Order: sequence, then C-alpha cells, then structure tokens
Amino acid sequence: MDNTKKIATPSVTRDLLRSHGVAAKKSLGQNFIVEPQVIEHIVRTAGCDKRDLVLEIGPGLGALTQALAAAAGQVVALEIDKTLLPPLNAQFAACPNVAILQADALQADIARLLEPYAAKAELRPGFMAVANLPYYITTPLLLRFLTEDLPWRRLVFMVQKEVAARLQAAPGGKDYGALSLAVQYRANVSVAFTVPAAVFLPRPKVDSAVVVLDRPERPAVSVRSEAALFAVIRAGFNQRRKTLANALAGNLGLAKDELAAAFAGAQVDGACRAEALTLADFARLADAITDLKQRNMEEIK
Ligand code: SAM
Repeated sequence: MDNTKKIATPSVTRDLLRSHGVAAKKSLGQNFIVEPQVIEHIVRTAGCDKRDLVLEIGPGLGALTQALAAAAGQVVALEIDKTLLPPLNAQFAACPNVAILQADALQADIARLLEPYAAKAELRPGFMAVANLPYYITTPLLLRFLTEDLPWRRLVFMVQKEVAARLQAAPGGKDYGALSLAVQYRANVSVAFTVPAAVFLPRPKVDSAVVVLDRPERPAVSVRSEAALFAVIRAGFNQRRKTLANALAGNLGLAKDELAAAFAGAQVDGACRAEALTLADFARLADAITDLKQRNMEEIK
C-alpha cells in the first residue's frame, strides 16, 4: 500500500471506509482526523525520533499511525474495532516498524504487549503514548496511565476541551477531581494547541485540545503508599457532595474515631468536601491512614 498518500483527508478517509464496507461507529468514539496539518502538529508536539517506542491508542484508519511510523523507531497501535483491521493491515503490513494489535486499551496488559518491541536495542527505555483518544475512554485511560506502574515518559493526547480543563484544574472548582489530582501527582501537564470540530469526520459536537503530560523524575509529593493516596482520593470524590469524613467512612475500613484521629494527625478538616483539599492535604491524610492501618495490624499480631 502507498504510504506516501496521506490518509488524513476527507476523500481518502471516505474512500477507505467505503472500499472496506465500514462506517464510523459513534459508540467507539470514531471521529477520524481529516486534516494533515493537525496530524503533523501532533507528531511535532510529541517530538519522537527513531529511538522512540510509541504506543498509539485507537489508530482508526491509520492517519496518525502513518505519520508516527515515519518519525518514530517503533509504533505499536492498539485498536479495539475488528472491522478496522483489514484497512490497517493493508496499509501497514509491509511497514517494518508498525505493529497493529487488536486490543481494548482499558483492559489490555500494556506492559506485556509492548515487551517484545521494547526489547529492541536501538530504542531508549520506556515509551511515549500518542493518540486521538475516543471520548468515552479518556478519563479511565488517563487514570490507568497515571495510577498504574507503566514506564511511559510522555503522553500526547487529543482530548475534548473540557477534559483538558479538568487536567489543569485547581482546588475549589467543579473541574477539580480525582483526575486533576492524579495528573498533579504524576505529571507536568500543558495544553499544546486546540483543535476545532471541523477537522474530524464525522464532526463531533465539541472542540478538542492536544495535551502533553510529561513525567518528572519524582512524583510531586512523597507518600508512604501510592495505593492509599489513590484510594483516599477516589473515596473522597466518589461522593463529592458529602463531607470528607462521611465520604471516607465505610470506604476505607476505619472506625469513625480512627478516621477522626487520622484527620487530626493530618491537620485536615473532615467537615470539608474533597474539592477543597490540595494534593499535599491528600498526601498527609493518606499517610495518616496508612500509619493507623499499620498500627492496627501490629495490634492484631
Ligand atoms: N487515530 C484515528 C484518527 O485520529 O483519525 C482514529 C481516532 S478515533 C477518535 C478513536 C479510535 O479509537 C477509533 O478507531 C476506535 O475504534 C478506537 N477505540 C475505541 N475504544 C477503544 C479501546 N477501548 N481500545 C482501543 N481502541 C479503541
């Protein structure tokens, strides 16, 4: 297949869909990019080179994959939709540095899938993920990258504009939540550029933005247990209208008086709502709860 002919145009995209007898599926968030300049801008923003392993989520018809293959050392693209495999395979079967895998990016064991490609000697350790993300998986997928132990160095994702706002939100507002805190903990985030709905086929209802998440050497705060930090954040925002004391009670397996002691130890007001707390507040609270649980375990012994 001709790999110089750009896929990201309205006519090539329509032709590919028609010739393979497939239609864009709304349920899978299929909005294909049909503007080559946007593709180039994403790849430039990623800044990948021939020493990079790039994970792409949702290659669709391969518009972004094509440009990533030209820039990166190796591309591994995970596509959930079986009906897109024939056009993808036709396009990239002869491309030595592209692997198309049928997988659900929310469920797949990403580290295991990348392992055979990551072993190539010419590639630097870790990987970059680059994607025009389907809207419906954006939050859980970002939380996966931010809370699981995966060796990514940079994430470059096209997301809906309102998600970009949530990634950068400060305490107190409606945009501030578990996602904002997970980002603050694990990444330095910036919005690279915004993208109008007109560059997609079919056209979505809202505009999008390309966000870049870079991983610093160390997380923004140090905690005794990351699992406890994320558990406290999740519990606090699962019932964000309740006071923290009520939202956490029951969820974390601590008695009310123990929880009150943890709040006091962390100097956090249990009568607040989760949205009032900074990352540093959550970190102190998680450490106080970790300490309490450890003491409880020692008493049982
Ligand atoms: N990369 C293409 C582009 O920019 O033109 C398509 C992007 S489209 C917004 C999202 C793609 O993600 C679709 O191809 C869709 O089938 C795929 N997708 C949806 N859910 C997925 C999942 N859970 N895992 C992997 N791919 C998924």
